[in-house]
Formats: sequence, structure tokens, C-alpha cells
Amino acid sequence: MNIAEVEKKALAEISKVKTPKNLDGFRIKYLGRKGEINNFLSEIPELPRQEDRKKAGILINEVKGRIEEALALRDKDLKNQSLKKVEKEPFDITEPGKTVPLGSIHPITKFREFVRDTFSQLGFEEVYAPHIEEDSYNFGLLNISPDHPSRDLWDTLYLENGDLLRTHTSNIQVREMEKRKPPIKVMSFDRCFRYESVDPHHDHTFTQFDLLYIDKKVSMVHLKFLSDLFLKKVFGERTKTRFRPKYYPFVEPGVGVDALCPFCEGKGCRICGREGWFEIAGAGLVHPQVIKNGGLDPDEYSGLAWGFGPDRILMIKLGIDDIRHFNKGDLRFLKQF
Ligand SMILES: [Zn+2]
Repeated sequence: MNIAEVEKKALAEISKVKTPKNLDGFRIKYLGRKGEINNFLSEIPELPRQEDRKKAGILINEVKGRIEEALALRDKDLKNQSLKKVEKEPFDITEPGKTVPLGSIHPITKFREFVRDTFSQLGFEEVYAPHIEEDSYNFGLLNISPDHPSRDLWDTLYLENGDLLRTHTSNIQVREMEKRKPPIKVMSFDRCFRYESVDPHHDHTFTQFDLLYIDKKVSMVHLKFLSDLFLKKVFGERTKTRFRPKYYPFVEPGVGVDALCPFCEGKGCRICGREGWFEIAGAGLVHPQVIKNGGLDPDEYSGLAWGFGPDRILMIKLGIDDIRHFNKGDLRFLKQF
């Protein structure tokens, strides 16, 4: 192919190029160091006559110039075309963006909102107490001395300095009595920790709800009312509340609060373990010694304390078979709620 044919081919190809990037390929093909035009230049010294070498040089440089010009023109055209395309089809702000996967609210958090709403309507205020707690607020001031046999009920994680990870949310009780004047109506829905061997029903980290109501003449009637109201809200109007005598060092009398199984209504089924009832909460009237420890006069004031494990209630209500799901962070579990 002579230089005129190469020029013709180059100009034809360049005029058909569709993108600026492809244009670079043709620039290399014709004008690159090993390109077709340079091939002609390298042949010049082989021409025998000085005059021909001069002519050939001029000719090749002219062709090179025209190809460069064609490349520049085509480049400009392509850029103008894409600009026009953008102008013609402007960015559509209504077009859906990239989908970012959304999380869902953890079932415990949802339940916490529900419980908080229920009791704040009755005038209870949510309070917080330290997770790393002094022995006294977790045990001693709640009538549980170091040698008290009931300490065995709580398998406790101790720190080297003698503090501990609180075993229940009841550590709010004396703290709030010290801070406030009766009537005291507070609640806590928070994490607790125990040195448990982990199984489907026990985890080292779990949630607890505590309610404390101290005023003049607070009695078991208040306790029954609050228990019944709450259990009906959770399990439906047809459920019933039952009190059984139970021992806790910080209440006198103490009761276990049971709810009538909402699935069999007392007949006994697989879910309630044929009992017809679920043990839901521990409660009672605040022990006079605990009221005294909080700086109040037990002859003037009485109180009720009420606590349950939200994990356990949710397991019953939602049919969850393993408490460890709550803390695993497995999306397959969490997305169901
Ligand atoms: Zn049942």
C-alpha cells in the first residue's frame, strides 16, 4: 500500500470511530512510534537520490498532519455528540437510586418501646443504673449480705476490684430512692449479666425489666393491677394473672407472677409444657429493710417491685426456641420481626 492509500484508509476509518477511547487506538495505529506513517519515514534513507528523499519527507509529513487534523476533528465531534446526548436526556432525579439494604428493629428494642409506652402512660419514668456495679447496690442494700445463701441464685461475674457486672436491673432501686422523694415511679429495661453455662434458655447477657413504685399505702392490690394490665397487653385480654408465693430477699411478701397460657387457655399444651401457665415475673412488696437502706421510713412508705425477663416473654410470644438468637446478630433471624 502506498502512502496515498494509507491516508485514504486512515481518514475513512477515523470518520467511523464511535468513541474517543477508540480514537486513541487509531492514533497509535497510524501515528505511533511503530505506526504506519513511521514505517514510511524509516524507508526514506533507502531512497538513492537526495531530491527524492526530500520530497518523500515533505509528503509523509503532510499526510501525518492531515491524519492528526482528522483525529482532532473527530475527537471534537464525538465530545459534542455526547454533550448533546446528555442535554437531550437530562439526569432524571426521580430515577430510583442504588438500593442500600435496610436493617430492621431488633425484637427486644421493639418490645422495649412497647413496655416503655405502657408504663409511661401510668406515670413511670425510665431510669438507668451502671452495668458495672458496686456489690452494695446489686446485693448488700437489697438485703443480700455476702454470706446470704440466696447469693447462689445469682451466678455473678466479679471484677478484680470487687465490683461486679450487675446480675439484675434491681440495682436501680436503692439508687433511685437515694435520688428522689416519694412517690417514686421508675422503670428500667436494660441488660444484665450472669456467669451462666449457656444453653437455649440461658445466656450470659440478657435483658431484664424492673419496676419500682414507692408511696404511702402501696399494696398487693397495686401489684395485682399492674401485673394483670401488663399481661393482658402482651398476651391478649383473655389471659389471666396468678400469684404464687415465692422467696426473694428484697421483697416481703414475694410472689411469682404467672400468666394463663394464651395458646391453650389453661388446658396445657406443648408451648406451656402442659402447665397451662407461664411463669413470667418475680415481684413483691419492697422489704422494709430495703426501704430503710434507701433512706426512707418503712413505717411511712411502702412499695412494690416487679421484674421480668423480656427475652423469655418474647420467646413465648414469638415462638423463639433459643435465647441465644437475640445476641447473635444473624440477619436471617432478625429479619423475621
Ligand atoms: Zn399452653
